[in-house]
Amino acid sequence: MDPFADTLQRLREAFVSGRTRPAEFRDAQLKGLSRFLRENKQLLQEALAQDLHKSAFEAEVSEISISQNEINLALRNLRTWMKDEKVSKNLATQLDSAFIRKEPFGLVLILSPWNYPLNLSLGPLVGALAAGNCVVLKPSEISKNTEKVLAEVLPRYLDQSCFAVVLGGPQETGRLLEHKFDYIFFTGNPQVGKIVMTAAAKHLTPVTLELGGKNPCYVDDNCDPQTVANRVAFFRCFNAGQTCVAPDYVLCSPEMQAQLVPALQSAITRFYGDDPQSSPNLGRIISQKHFQRLRGLLSCGRVVIGGQSDECDLYIAPTVLVDVQETDPVMQEEIFGPILPIVNVRSLGQAIDFINRREKPLALYAFSNSSQVVKRVLAQTSSGGFCGNDGFMHLTLASLPFGGVGSSGMGNYHGKFSFDTFSHHRACLLRRPGLEKIYAIRYPPHTPRNLRV
Ligand code: NAD
Repeated sequence: MDPFADTLQRLREAFVSGRTRPAEFRDAQLKGLSRFLRENKQLLQEALAQDLHKSAFEAEVSEISISQNEINLALRNLRTWMKDEKVSKNLATQLDSAFIRKEPFGLVLILSPWNYPLNLSLGPLVGALAAGNCVVLKPSEISKNTEKVLAEVLPRYLDQSCFAVVLGGPQETGRLLEHKFDYIFFTGNPQVGKIVMTAAAKHLTPVTLELGGKNPCYVDDNCDPQTVANRVAFFRCFNAGQTCVAPDYVLCSPEMQAQLVPALQSAITRFYGDDPQSSPNLGRIISQKHFQRLRGLLSCGRVVIGGQSDECDLYIAPTVLVDVQETDPVMQEEIFGPILPIVNVRSLGQAIDFINRREKPLALYAFSNSSQVVKRVLAQTSSGGFCGNDGFMHLTLASLPFGGVGSSGMGNYHGKFSFDTFSHHRACLLRRPGLEKIYAIRYPPHTPRNLRV
């Protein structure tokens, strides 16, 4: 018995009926999403607090407001985004009408992760609905409180003939992926990304893969250590470090490290107090499995800040590691926790070589008072996104595409990029039936005369 067959059949039929195509229908779905956020704010905050000990501030800025902004932007621009895009023409098509039509793919699947379980479900959903698709959302089973709200409450705000939430872990998702979708949007780790892409390949289904990796953070000797420490500590510890774009490790000289470590200590104490475990502003690790993995990483190099952990509370203290070797486990895998290793480099060139020897990251950060240094890092490396002199502020701009490159992913979204991601860009040329005398010049037999044209 296939648990998904009936749902998928229902959504397919709804898509074929054409009801998702009119702007009014899309508009109503987006307004439904907006109401869902407004009317269930407290429920969502509670679920996020239960799943990740997310503070009200973090829940607001990184889950609720950010999703609301995406909805508002789509509502304001929907009709403009939907318009056919006129394109330039050549001599042979001067009398025709040529344009790109953004049409929905059909039935799309969104697979979301646990670390921003609301934002990373609703963000892609806004694009998919705005583009006129029918959608199956499969939230992460790990963030189970948020999953419950998404499964039980969200569908009430949307047209259920066109939208469904399905539940399950790896095994169920594997079965779901046996079905043919018209587009798959996956956010998660690169290993699972490969499973998703392999399944999609069987049906030649296009995919967006929003993956993770290790995001380097270069700190130049020419900078103010306290300012850098504030920014790096804040973005490393946000959501207890469980952010795909968090600065994963610092590259700096031993001299800068000597200034940065006390500055990081000062920032962490100011943010979370002398006992960060009792701070309401520091999140917890999502599960025992991730807790054990992170605790294992604490033995890499030498702990100079933090290092404490509490299994019962899934707590890992904000931690800084020095004397870390490139071959240490903490430098082999995405950390995804509040642990910051510092790796020493002797020069900017060495830092750039270090970055370029590794997989292309989702985000890259460079801190320096010299714009030349920041621009050199930007020019000589590659990453999904880049931010000079701060953490992941670039992703707050809906005017920038958000996505990875190489092993950090393919495709992108946010703002209009989301709408375009979930739309097939159909190449259209409309020619009038007449004027055959002019067009007859194309037909054989070809003579030297028509070759000159
Ligand atoms: P994950 O890959 O384990 O899970 C993501 C989704 O895939 C979930 O819905 C899960 O149920 C499903 N899944 C898990 N294993 C599966 C399998 N074997 N077969 C089929 N489906 C499976 O990711 P996660 O642990 O939830 O999230 C953390 C990862 O996601 C990190 O690597 C992080 O960097 C990445 N991430 C990336 C972004 C981004 O925007 N690029 C954002 C957040 C998280």
